[in-house]
Amino acid sequence: MRESDLVVVLLSADRGRVETIARGARKSRRRFPGGLPVGARGEAEVRPGRGALGNLERFEFTRDNSAIGKDLKRFGFVSYLCEITDQLVSGHGIEEAIYDALDDALDEVLGQDPDPETLRSYELKLLDHLGLLPSLSSCCACGVEVEVAPAQGVAYDIPRGGVLCPEHAGRAATRLDPSVLVVTRALRTASAPGVLSNAPLTVRRGVRDLCLQVVRQHLVRPLKSAEFFAQIARDRRSVAVGCG
Ligand SMILES: [Zn+2]
Repeated sequence: MRESDLVVVLLSADRGRVETIARGARKSRRRFPGGLPVGARGEAEVRPGRGALGNLERFEFTRDNSAIGKDLKRFGFVSYLCEITDQLVSGHGIEEAIYDALDDALDEVLGQDPDPETLRSYELKLLDHLGLLPSLSSCCACGVEVEVAPAQGVAYDIPRGGVLCPEHAGRAATRLDPSVLVVTRALRTASAPGVLSNAPLTVRRGVRDLCLQVVRQHLVRPLKSAEFFAQIARDRRSVAVGCG
C-alpha cells in the first residue's frame, strides 16, 4: 500500500460487507469528490482485486454528510454506529434489514440532535438481526416466561444467553433493575419512541451498560470511537469544573 491509498469497508444492500482498497484516495478528487469519510453514503464502483480486497474505483455521495463535521458528539455517534457494524457483521450475506437499520440510524444522528436512544435502538436491531440478542423475556436455560417485577431484580447472565427464572438463577446471579428490562424490551420492539430519552438517568445508564455488555462480547478489537465518548465526557466534566 502507498500512503495515498485507503482501506475502505463498505456495507451494501445487495452484497453485504465488502472490503476494498481505494488507490490514491487521498489525492483523487475526480474519483472521490467528497473524500471517503466515515458514515458516507452513496454509490460505489468496485472491481475485483487481488485476494479478498476489491478495488474501489469511484465513490459518489447520494446523501449530504456535511452535518457530521459540525460537532465531536455527532462524529462519535456516526463512528460508533459504523464501527460496531464493521466488527459484528462478518460475512457477505447480511440481511438487507441491517443495511436499512444503519441507514435510518445515520439519518437520525445527522438530522437531529444526536440522541443515545438511536445508538441503543440500533445495537438491539443489529444484535437481533445477527441472532446475537440475549433472551429478554424467557429464561435462557428452560424457556419459561420470566416475571419482570420481582423486588430483588431480574436475574440475568449475558454469556449464558439472557434472563433467568428463579429456579435457574442461583443465589449469586447478577440482578437487573426491572425498569431497565422493561425499557430495553420497549426499545427492541420500537413500540414507544422516546422511551429511553424520557427515562430516569439510572435507567438510561442501565440500558446502556446492558447493551454495551452484549456488544462487547462480540467485538474482535477495541472500539476506536470509544475514545471520542471518553473525550466528550472529559470535556463536559472540565466545563462543569470551570463553572464551579
Ligand atoms: Zn429457567
